[in-house]
Amino acid sequence: MRTEEIAEKLINGEAPGKAELLELIRARTPEVSKRLASAADKKRREVYGDRVYIRGLIEFTNCCKNDCLYCGIRRSCRSAERYRLTEGEILSCCAEGHRLGFRTFVLQGGEDPYFTPERVSSLVRAIKAAHPDCAVTLSVGEHPREVYKLWREAGADRYLLRHETADKAHYERLHPASMRFENRMRCLYDLKDLGFQVGCGMMLGSPFQTPATLAEDLAFIRDFRPHMVGMGPFIPARDTPFAGERAGTLEETLFFISVVRLLLPGVLLPATTALGTIDPQGREKGLQAGANVLMPNLSPTAVREKYALYDNKLCTGEESAQCLACLEARVASAGFKIVTDRGDSKIQ
Ligand code: SAH
Repeated sequence: MRTEEIAEKLINGEAPGKAELLELIRARTPEVSKRLASAADKKRREVYGDRVYIRGLIEFTNCCKNDCLYCGIRRSCRSAERYRLTEGEILSCCAEGHRLGFRTFVLQGGEDPYFTPERVSSLVRAIKAAHPDCAVTLSVGEHPREVYKLWREAGADRYLLRHETADKAHYERLHPASMRFENRMRCLYDLKDLGFQVGCGMMLGSPFQTPATLAEDLAFIRDFRPHMVGMGPFIPARDTPFAGERAGTLEETLFFISVVRLLLPGVLLPATTALGTIDPQGREKGLQAGANVLMPNLSPTAVREKYALYDNKLCTGEESAQCLACLEARVASAGFKIVTDRGDSKIQ
C-alpha cells in the first residue's frame, strides 16, 4: 500500500497493521508528516478541545541503582551530583504547586533504595491528605506487583513507566543485563491491572533504534492502550556510554506524536521537556502536532540542574511552574489554553 493510503487509513480511524506502520515509518516524508499533524490536531480538538493539561513535575531524587546506558543519572555516572528531597521539601513543592493551580503532581526519580515502598506510600498519603482534589502520579521505575499495589492503596492515581522500546533485542542494547525486557512489560501490565492510569513511551532516535523497532513500539501502544504516552527525542548525556551518539530530531518526534494521537484519540500526550530542549519552540510544535499535556518543573530551583537525564536540559526558568504566565502566553500563541483541572485520560 502506498504511504499516503496508509496515512489516510490511520486518519480514518482504522488501525493499520504492523507491516503498514513499518511502511509509514520508513517512508515518512515532510508532506505525510504535515497531513498527519493536521489530522492529529483536529482529532485532539474533537476529544479534548483546545485544553492543555498541566502537571507539576517534582524530581525528588536523582539517586539510582540502575545503569540504563542512555541516562545521565545512571549509577555509574560519576559526574552526577546526587541529591534527594526530604518529605517536607516535597510537600512544600506540592503546596506551592497547588497555589499556582496545579491539580496533578508527578513524583519522578531514579530507583533510589532510600525511598522504600513504605516511605513512598507515606509520601503519597501525605500529599493526598493535604490536597484531596489532586491526582498523584508516580514515576519511580520497576517494582514488584505488591509494591505497586501498596502505592495504589495509598492513593496514587497514575504511573509513568516508559517501555523505552518494545523490541527485546533493542531493549537489551539500551540496558544492562540486570534489567529484563520481560520485567518492564510485566510492570506495565501489573500497573494497568491494579487500576493505575498508565503511561508508557519511548525516546525517538535512541541508539540502535530502527523503523522495525519503532513499528513494534506503535503496535505495542495500539494493543496495550495506555492512558498516556510520553515521547521525546533521545539527547546524549555526558559520562554515559552514549555520550557521543546523535540526538533524535524534532521532526521525527512530532511525527510520532501525531501517529499516536491518531492511533489512540483519547490518549494524553505530553509535549516533553526534551522536545523543548532540542528546539526553542519544540513544545508548542508538539501541541500543534497532537500533544495536550505540559509538565512544568516544580522541583526546588537548586536541584533542577542536577536532575540531568541528558545534556543542556531546558532549565531557564521559563519552563518552570513558577512561570505559568510565560507558559500560558506560549500556549495561547500556539492556539491552546491551559486548564487546571486534574485532566484524566479519556482512554477507558
Ligand atoms: N527511573 C524512572 C524515571 C526515569 S527518567 C523510570 O525508570 O521510569 C524518565 C525518562 O527519561 C526515561 O524513561 C527515559 O525515556 C528518559 N530519558 C532518560 N535518559 C534520556 C536521554 N538521554 N535523552 C532523552 N530522554 C531520556
